[in-house]
Amino acid sequence: MSPVTPPVRIDVDLSSDTVTRPTADMRRFMCEAEVGDEQKLEDPTVNLLNEMVAELLGKEAAVFLPSGTMCNEIALRVHARPGEEVIAHHTAHPINFETGGPGALAGVNMRAIDGARGQFDAAAVEAAVRPPSRYAPRTRLVWVEQTSNLGGGSVWPLERLEAVAAVAKRHGLATHMDGARLMNAVVASGVSARDYAARFDSAWIDFTKGLGAPVGAALAGSRAFIDEAWRCKQQMGGAMRQAGIIAAGGVYALRHHVKRLAEDHANARRLAEGLAGLPGVRLDPRTIDTNIVFFELTGSLTASAAVERLLVRGVRMGALGARTIRAVTHLDVDAHAIERALAVARDVFTG
Ligand SMILES: *Cc1c(COP(=O)(O)O)cnc(C)c1O
Repeated sequence: MSPVTPPVRIDVDLSSDTVTRPTADMRRFMCEAEVGDEQKLEDPTVNLLNEMVAELLGKEAAVFLPSGTMCNEIALRVHARPGEEVIAHHTAHPINFETGGPGALAGVNMRAIDGARGQFDAAAVEAAVRPPSRYAPRTRLVWVEQTSNLGGGSVWPLERLEAVAAVAKRHGLATHMDGARLMNAVVASGVSARDYAARFDSAWIDFTKGLGAPVGAALAGSRAFIDEAWRCKQQMGGAMRQAGIIAAGGVYALRHHVKRLAEDHANARRLAEGLAGLPGVRLDPRTIDTNIVFFELTGSLTASAAVERLLVRGVRMGALGARTIRAVTHLDVDAHAIERALAVARDVFTG
């Protein structure tokens, strides 16, 4: 995810699903959106989007926010007090990509736990819950990421989520689902967003990942939770005015860009199958659940050198470690672009 100087021309951008640009139809829809003062709850398009997300996730209410990062940071502040502890996988977004926000904004202690592919099980949560002690932080919240980004877009099975949430409830802990790519999990598994989110006190979806909108995310929970989230939003400067113009991108995306995520998943699988056959590449295509493809380099080529060589040939991927590369499919790469990327990768990896 380190920024690379782009060449004159990138033919296939697999660096992230955030690179999508709004389609002509989405732009038209945004252009024509009805708007009002969002922070007075007078923007009809934002209100509609919040209702759609609350309904989708089976929660009482939702609040539109500028980013998924703000959803996470606000959720931390509402669920936990300074000094309290949050159980999360060590790959979780707030631990790695939110500039220390959990410490800086919520004052919480993140307890990073382990498990394959960005997931943990109920036993790991049980083991991480602090017994009452004057010395230890108080455990307050259990955090999951559906799908897991650094876990390679892995989909948490519903039963595992339910078991994890059951342990949390038994200990009186709150639960949060980072659903930046929840709709990818829904399309890949056929389980509804409502069912995935059912055992979690709060959950959110991002409009700027696979859904392809330019701005925004929405956080959902109980009415009381969202009332508190609004106070944080106002305080952090996230309350907006005629935000319907951007929220319309989310409305359009929920109506038109969900089912098509299946294409991104098929493209990711095709990419993985092609890459897996190349020399110096370690990748098991069976581990590709959704739109994220991680692979390891086993030869002398480093990830940053490989990414550089791909880039000068017009294909952008991300180096996520000395030998780890990430490629993400999205609505701006079609099957043809995947074949193009594979042809370039073949060149690079066969020397
Ligand atoms: C992208 C992402 C976020 C942050 O969302 P932004 O809208 O980019 O702020 C949070 N969690 C996960 C798992 C993500 O992939």
